[in-house]
Amino acid sequence: MASLADSAFAMLINGCAVDASQTIAVVNPATEAVVAQVPDCDEAGLNAAVRAARGAFPGWRDTPYAQRQAALRTIGATLAAHVDELAAILTAEQGKPLAAAMGEIQAAAWWIGVVAEQELPVHVSEDLPGQRSVTRHVPLGVVGAIVPWNFPLLLAIWKIGPALLTGNTLVLKPSPFTPLATLRLGALLRDLLPPGVLNIVTGGDALGPLMTRHLDIDKISFTGSTATGRRVMESASANLKRLTLELGGNDAAIILDDADVDAIAEPLFWACFANSGQVCVAAKRVYVHDAVYDRLAAALADIAARMTVGDGAVDGSQLGPVQNRAQYDRVCALIADSVAAGHRFLAGGDVPDGQGYFIPVTIVDNPPNDARVVQEEAFGPVVPLIRYTDLDDAIARANDCDYGLGGSVWSSDMDRAQAVAARMETGTVWINSAQGLSPFAAFAGHKQSGLGVENGPDGLLEFTTPQSVYQPVAG
Ligand code: NAD
Repeated sequence: MASLADSAFAMLINGCAVDASQTIAVVNPATEAVVAQVPDCDEAGLNAAVRAARGAFPGWRDTPYAQRQAALRTIGATLAAHVDELAAILTAEQGKPLAAAMGEIQAAAWWIGVVAEQELPVHVSEDLPGQRSVTRHVPLGVVGAIVPWNFPLLLAIWKIGPALLTGNTLVLKPSPFTPLATLRLGALLRDLLPPGVLNIVTGGDALGPLMTRHLDIDKISFTGSTATGRRVMESASANLKRLTLELGGNDAAIILDDADVDAIAEPLFWACFANSGQVCVAAKRVYVHDAVYDRLAAALADIAARMTVGDGAVDGSQLGPVQNRAQYDRVCALIADSVAAGHRFLAGGDVPDGQGYFIPVTIVDNPPNDARVVQEEAFGPVVPLIRYTDLDDAIARANDCDYGLGGSVWSSDMDRAQAVAARMETGTVWINSAQGLSPFAAFAGHKQSGLGVENGPDGLLEFTTPQSVYQPVAG
């Protein structure tokens, strides 16, 4: 691949490539080298993007549904046709191994194709002599989409697909840490979508708040941390913006006494450590019944010992670095806290010095429930294994949490697993797996893990508002 620094990464506004007077640097987390500069959009730039989206809205709203479906398929085909190029960019900015970057882009291409097939319901509310009323779902207008750095393209597609399908226009902001693949996708789509329908702006910390308080943005679809989600909600009140918030999680995995250790060790490991633990729905606390604790601990430690953590661009790397310096420091602080508290480690426990934000797979051996490593979302390759004997107590501890994003139950008995799943206070529960999400199913954070729904028919509706039309019927 040509050096990224030689490529121009411009914003997409009203169908044009647009720069800004200032730029921000994008750093490769494996090398700590600056790989490219991107525009640092100011308020005037954002206003131009919102104006473009507003101007394009009536035409896009009135575009036949089938044409909007075709536009989504075009986006999917564009992703699929540029997997190699986009994956190389994604690995350079995000850090994940190249195969995982390719997987993310292929998943995004498939996902938007599935969304393209979805339909909005039309409900005949009454059909009486004299009056008929029909409720349908119409677009909101201009949507602002704000995306984090762990799955930059996939999570952008979760917003682009349903927003555009339902007739909204979009101003999309990737994370300042990972804007490159998204800008490149924008460039590839520049001539394939009507101007103003999809706009992409990049910038530093000031840009998100400018979007969330912008009076001409009708909805914010936000994915990121709970702390930022609270700020988004506060600032959205001025024009009563609609909000979808997909926020943090501290997902518990509960391993029952009848779990098949040999069968679950590998999938459980990846449930915890895929994408170096930087997954909102990663298993972040693992409650293991005493009957299987020692065998499972040994099996996980064995897998951890075989992992190659390295530059995602280098063949053989199975896990990449943590994506940015601030996150690296947070994860290192959690490990240091466990060391200071005298916790034992089944894997990891120290972070070697050197270039890149690399943290070895770290498994903490039965820390107390009030330890920071149990209570806080690590969002990195650090997971506590916690021994329990009483299942009710394990479920209570799993639920004793401000988050409610996901959780998993691991057992050889589906009925028992289902019974535990029914008691988990989370928006998603998996049995003998974790992390898998689908465009067919609602994804909703309970408690402080979010507000509203993404994905599935309910997620599509979040980009619309009901409109009831009454018409007289000759009686
Ligand atoms: P973050 O909240 O720091 O940033 C997310 C996005 O919000 C970025 O684009 C950022 O620039 C922007 N932003 C920052 N401050 C803002 C503000 N005041 N107003 C508006 N926008 C602002 O999160 P992150 O560190 O990028 O991502 C990690 C977090 O995201 C974790 O907590 C993780 O669990 C969560 N996450 C949740 C999901 C989900 O679907 N529930 C998915 C992925 C990540």
